Amino acid sequence: METMKAVVFKGKDRIAVEEVPKPTPRASEAVIRITTTTICGTDVHIVRGEYPVKPGLILGHEPVGIIEALGPGLEEFYSIGQRVIVGAITPCGQCFYCLNGVHSQCGGGTGGWRFGNTINGAWAEYLVVPDARANLAPIPDALSDDEVMLCPDIFSTGLSGAESGNIRVGDAVAVFAQGPIGLCATVGAKLKGASLIIGVDSNAGRLAVARRLGANVALNPKDGDPVSEIKRLTDGRGVDVAIEALGRQETFESALRAIRPGGTLSSLGVYSGKLVAPYEAFYAGLGDQKIVTTLCPGGKERMRRLMTMVEHRRVDLTSLVTHRFALDDIEEAFDVFSHQRDGVLKVALYPDAARVPRARREVGVGAIDEQC
Ligand SMILES: [Zn+2]
Ligand SMILES: [Zn+2]
Repeated sequence: METMKAVVFKGKDRIAVEEVPKPTPRASEAVIRITTTTICGTDVHIVRGEYPVKPGLILGHEPVGIIEALGPGLEEFYSIGQRVIVGAITPCGQCFYCLNGVHSQCGGGTGGWRFGNTINGAWAEYLVVPDARANLAPIPDALSDDEVMLCPDIFSTGLSGAESGNIRVGDAVAVFAQGPIGLCATVGAKLKGASLIIGVDSNAGRLAVARRLGANVALNPKDGDPVSEIKRLTDGRGVDVAIEALGRQETFESALRAIRPGGTLSSLGVYSGKLVAPYEAFYAGLGDQKIVTTLCPGGKERMRRLMTMVEHRRVDLTSLVTHRFALDDIEEAFDVFSHQRDGVLKVALYPDAARVPRARREVGVGAIDEQC
């Protein structure tokens, strides 16, 4: 039996590079050879045991690769050797939820998220892509792996915060937390036509990146209450849309306090425990506010659209990829990413280690003083 290298979840705080069987595609599936992938904050939650997945699962949900094998009947639509990305969310396109337009909830609550959650993921040499016709998105020839590697999850998710917030031209927007997803939400607010974009984070390095990517104002909670400053900047009203990109009670609450009556809180964070909406920030339930949540939109058409934004130079997210590692060096990569060392934003992982010198690194965005 042919085998491949993969990073396997072994239980709380334990991952390991192992040799596992190389997969073959069944009907409707494709197998891609992973050329580039990355680590997401959600993977950190999984490894720390804060989000349950089965031990033995291959993690990772941000695949860039080359078609290696196609299930029966798919040759008509794709060819071996084609470069593709696949969204972190892989909708089937057939079920109740997909046909009602909520693809990320494919099959039931958060069901569209399968890679590294309910099926084997992208931290491997090869990946089985389910419902391949709905999910394999060819990469335009002009684009490199690095230019598209944030499309499967981070860019799609961050941008969706701006889209779900229904930002209109001239809106004032605050984005709480400027990690990779918050930064992409800042980019999204700019693309959607916000006039005033306020980035909030306690990390000065990340605030500097936010300014570069479109924030007019950068607020550090260490320097004072961001909500009162946001009110001051918006004639006492609050912003039209606040995007929450961290998943904590404090940022959720600040985002709620920061929106004007009739405004929208667009939430992207992954929460745990109990989430509380204080009654006065909620105008006792009479404030005409909207609270919306979004799970990363996936599927090949979403991926095509995001890649055209990169291709036509509406966005350039390559500066968010700050570190590079061979997949074999996953432990070191995970340590750097999960502890936010060296100004890390996103790390690129290369399963084909021979192509990349071991743990090649680049300069990060600046010193990290604490986790935001
Ligand atoms: Zn993710
Ligand atoms: Zn579905």
